[in-house]
Amino acid sequence: MIVSVNEALRRVGEPFPFTWKGTLEPQTFAGKTVVFSGKATLSGTYVYDGKTFRVDADATLGYETVCARCGEPMVEPMAFSFTERFVRPMFKTEDDELYTYEGEKLDLSTAFFDNFFLEMPMTTVCSESCKGLCPVCGMNLNRGQCSCLTNKIDARFSALESLLNEHKEV
Ligand SMILES: [Zn+2]
Ligand SMILES: [Zn+2]
Repeated sequence: MIVSVNEALRRVGEPFPFTWKGTLEPQTFAGKTVVFSGKATLSGTYVYDGKTFRVDADATLGYETVCARCGEPMVEPMAFSFTERFVRPMFKTEDDELYTYEGEKLDLSTAFFDNFFLEMPMTTVCSESCKGLCPVCGMNLNRGQCSCLTNKIDARFSALESLLNEHKEV
């Protein structure tokens, strides 16, 4: 995700568009490794103000995860946007949230992954209509119906039946 900015360095205040498309290497964050799926894209603009680059970017990607309800592996598609600033290392201070660049190139990958992990949802579901697992036998209810729920209904029906029978006897 390296963008050549030599032109922008000479034309202060002028926004330049960029696009990037490619595959992403797995990333580890907070002890968890995320594996990406398919192609990721990053596009937007960068502008130089004489000291700092401002980058406005839109990203799309897909990553491998599991459904929080049924536990099946799935690919979660994601789209997010971010704005970040880049300075020469000599202008960077300890407490600022700026990224650095050297020469005439911006490497957007750190900013990209930082924002990805910020935006990544805590849980994902394979489908809004995912039925999850049976709490009794653990069967994936998207694949069919186990007998646990049916048994419960049968039990209720037979209770009702015996109640009706009791009334008949009165
Ligand atoms: Zn599911
Ligand atoms: Zn069951």
